[in-house]
Amino acid sequence: MKYDVIIGLEIHAELKTTSKMFCRCANNTLKADPNSAVCPICLGHPGTLPQLNQEAVNMILRLGLALNGEINQLSKFDRKNYFYPDLPKGYQISQYDLPLVYNANLEIDGANIAITRLHLEEDTGKLTHPDKANYTLIDYNRAGVPLIEMVTEPVIKDGKQAKNFCQSYQQLLRYLDISDADMEKGQMRCEANISLQTPGNWKYEDGQIKPTEKKELNPKVEIKNINSFKAVEKAINFEIARQSELLDQEKKIAPETRGWSDTQNKTISQRIKESSADYRYFPEPDIPPLNISSTAIKNIQENLPELPQAKAARFQNEYGLNPETATLMVSYKNLAQWYEEVVSELRAWIDASSDNWERNNRRLSALAANWLTSELFKYYPIASWANQARPKGISAENFAELITLIFQEKINSSAGQKILSAMNESNSSPKQIMADLGLEQIDSSAELARVIESVLTANPQQAAEYRQGKTALAQFFVGQVMAQTKGKANPKIVLEELAKILNK
Ligand SMILES: [Zn+2]
Repeated sequence: MKYDVIIGLEIHAELKTTSKMFCRCANNTLKADPNSAVCPICLGHPGTLPQLNQEAVNMILRLGLALNGEINQLSKFDRKNYFYPDLPKGYQISQYDLPLVYNANLEIDGANIAITRLHLEEDTGKLTHPDKANYTLIDYNRAGVPLIEMVTEPVIKDGKQAKNFCQSYQQLLRYLDISDADMEKGQMRCEANISLQTPGNWKYEDGQIKPTEKKELNPKVEIKNINSFKAVEKAINFEIARQSELLDQEKKIAPETRGWSDTQNKTISQRIKESSADYRYFPEPDIPPLNISSTAIKNIQENLPELPQAKAARFQNEYGLNPETATLMVSYKNLAQWYEEVVSELRAWIDASSDNWERNNRRLSALAANWLTSELFKYYPIASWANQARPKGISAENFAELITLIFQEKINSSAGQKILSAMNESNSSPKQIMADLGLEQIDSSAELARVIESVLTANPQQAAEYRQGKTALAQFFVGQVMAQTKGKANPKIVLEELAKILNK
């Protein structure tokens, strides 16, 4: 790559407060009929007074502290003036020079991505342009819904890192239970600013990209309409390729806003930015400045839940999970919680048997995690755990019992898979299913030796080759024994017996 790629992200997230930001309208934009969740305040009628929603303030403070940010204890709201039909008041109440949170950061794959600021503002109404119609529909239900706008420093290197950042940010919003942050539903909206510069021509100073000498910087391009994580990565990578091709041909890059088109797989010019808009910000006269006490901050800090990265580290220490499995297991708060219920049920099963929990807990917990991610995910894939969902047919207790049966070698893994499938359909206990289907593992050496003898007799050629040292054939014989016992043989004992018989 001949150029330095400079990417900054702006993410808007809708907060799931009970009511809107400055009025008592219900905050349920997706469920209500168009223009039903509105009142004179969020419609901007003259003479109405907005009142700040304390819940929204608490939410941004939780997020800010979770992102190691600093809090402006004296903060205020400002009017951002512009005219657009989705904005009933003719201005948006936002925060300009005193955002509630500044100097935060989020760690992505070992890199610390600096976050310039987080502030509160109100959402606008929603415009819909019906296909081929000569009119536009407008729904003001969304007007006045609380939003957090988060702005990163321009320190992101490529599409993949941007995508990972967005995913981790969404995960955090969900862990803190402050936003459902579903990109497809518009609850989380991502914009990327991208510019390509010749190395050595630029430096980063006071939050801005500046030229090192009397050279001109290449303008930045803003991408909007990104509505999935995949689109974040694709749009940025497309834009990097498009801009570097223009620079290679010594053409100029237009400072513009481009939209990502999923169907055409490219960014499309929407409008040229002539100069930065003048929003004539001024302090919102209807809302008094905010004074946030140190006690309130301390209180919120102390009540933060365990966050994904800390949880993943604990899962590695406590349950012996490898880093990949631990990260997967904390993807959703309820998945992590379900797993911990399984571990606690496992302990109950093991304590009730003659096995020793203290000696085996890490092996058992890791076994449960492996079965969860490899087998249970076949029925309940990772994405199905979003929004607090749990497996319907399988309880943590039954899943733990299954893991105990496998651990204690009462069943082998193929029987375990059959039992899991039956558990998902019938909701009954694994032990019951094991008995019903006759899946209990055959552990008797004598019984398995008899089966092996018959397999060897039936395959004289392979038996001879194995005796001459072709040990790879052991797996062939195990397969034959499994077929004869309908998958019920204990493979470990089959291998032991096989070795004894052939080495005689
Ligand atoms: Zn309202």
